[in-house]
Amino acid sequence: MKPKLAVWKFASCDGCQLSLLDLEDDLLALAGAVELAEFREATSGVVDGPYDLSLVEGSITTAHDAERIRRVRRASRVLVTIGACATAGGIQTLRNFQNVQEFIRAVYAKPEYIETLATSTPISAHVKVDFELQGCPINKAQLLEVLSAHLQGRAPSIRSHSVCIECKRRQTVCVMVARGTPCLGPVTHAGCGAICPAYDRGCYGCYGPMESPNTESLTGWWRRLGVPDAAIARAYRGINGHKEPFRLAAEALGVPPETPPGRDGKPPEPHAG
Ligand code: SF4
Ligand code: SF4
Repeated sequence: MKPKLAVWKFASCDGCQLSLLDLEDDLLALAGAVELAEFREATSGVVDGPYDLSLVEGSITTAHDAERIRRVRRASRVLVTIGACATAGGIQTLRNFQNVQEFIRAVYAKPEYIETLATSTPISAHVKVDFELQGCPINKAQLLEVLSAHLQGRAPSIRSHSVCIECKRRQTVCVMVARGTPCLGPVTHAGCGAICPAYDRGCYGCYGPMESPNTESLTGWWRRLGVPDAAIARAYRGINGHKEPFRLAAEALGVPPETPPGRDGKPPEPHAG
C-alpha cells in the first residue's frame, strides 16, 4: 500500500502547488512512491481519505474555509503547510491592518456578493500543523526534503539560517554594507538562494522570519541608513507581515498601518488611459 498524498488549496495564487509540479524527474519518482489522492492542480481524480500526508497551500479568509480546514485536519495523519500564505497569511494579510469592507467596496462591482472574514490567517491559527515550510513560493529542494522525510519516517531537515548565509555562499557583495541598500536578509529564513541581493536589490523577506531573528538590531541598522520608520514598518508588513516576529517589529516602531491610496475619503486617482 502506497501512502496517500493530498494537496489542498485555500486562499492562494497556486504558485506553491506549481513548485510541486515543477519537481520534474523527482515528481515522477514521487508519483511512483505515493498514491496521489487529491491534487486538483494535477488531476481531476479524487480518492477518499484518510490521508497519510496533506500539503496545504493558502490562508483562511472565509468562514467556509475555516470549516473546511478542520475537515482536512481530521482526515490527515500528517499536515504540512506550504508557502507564505499558509504559514503566515500571505499578502492577503494586508487586510488585517485595514478595514476589509473598504477593500471589498473598492474592488468588487457587486460587493454584496462577497462573503469574507475580516482577516487572513495562517492554517496554524485554526488547526494543529505538523510542519511549516516557508517561502513565496516554496523552494523545490526544501519541498522534496519534506516529502522524502515523510516517506522515510523522519523529521525534515530544513536549515533555519538567514538569507545572509546564502549570500555569502554565492559570494554576492552585501548590498547593505557596500551600497547602503536596506535589506531584510539578516532576519529572513533562507531558501530563495539570496536572489534579490544577487540582482543588487535588498531582500523583501519572502521566506518569512528565520529562527530567533534580531529585528531590533536590523531596525537600528536601517535607521542608520536613513530609512524612515514608516518605510521600515512597511517592509516588515509585507508578504509575511502577520508572522509574529515581523508583526511585532512593525508594531515596535509605533507606526500605524497606512491608509491605502484612495481609501482616505478622497476619490482614487483615475487610471491613465
Ligand atoms: S506563498 Fe506565494 S507563491 Fe505560494 S501560494 Fe502564496 S502567493 Fe502564491
Ligand atoms: S545583501 Fe542582505 S542578505 Fe546579503 S549579506 Fe547583505 S544584508 Fe545579508
